[in-house]
Amino acid sequence: MITDVFCKILNKELPADIVAEDDNWLAINDINPQAPVHVLIMPKKHLTDVCAATQDDAKLLGELLMAANKIAKKLGLEEKGFRLIINHGEHGGQLVPHLHIHLLGGKRLGPKIIAESK
Ligand code: 5GP
Repeated sequence: MITDVFCKILNKELPADIVAEDDNWLAINDINPQAPVHVLIMPKKHLTDVCAATQDDAKLLGELLMAANKIAKKLGLEEKGFRLIINHGEHGGQLVPHLHIHLLGGKRLGPKIIAESK
């Protein structure tokens, strides 16, 4: 059985602050935001990470990016800009084993996307 925290949110077993939803994805505010806007966009289908996707998931992956497109515009981020991040695995810093895109914005983000941890 798949019991990651995002599956629990998708199954309504845990609450979340929903930003937008469609047939195949859900977008919620991050519980520990790293910027004024920090939205997590996840597929309703359980995919552990981006490498768990197959060619059959290509349309779904496109839908996730289009979700980011729509949410960024809806939140007024298009002009000033924003950042999309997908973490993968241990070195990527992935904590939740359910594919998700981080959408960060609302302020000028740091120039570095790589911060090496000790
Ligand atoms: P990752 O490191 O896996 O790419 O990011 C996981 C993100 O999920 C983190 O930014 C973390 O704050 C967020 N997160 C973890 N648990 C919860 C939760 O129960 N609810 C919400 N809304 N976000 C969560």
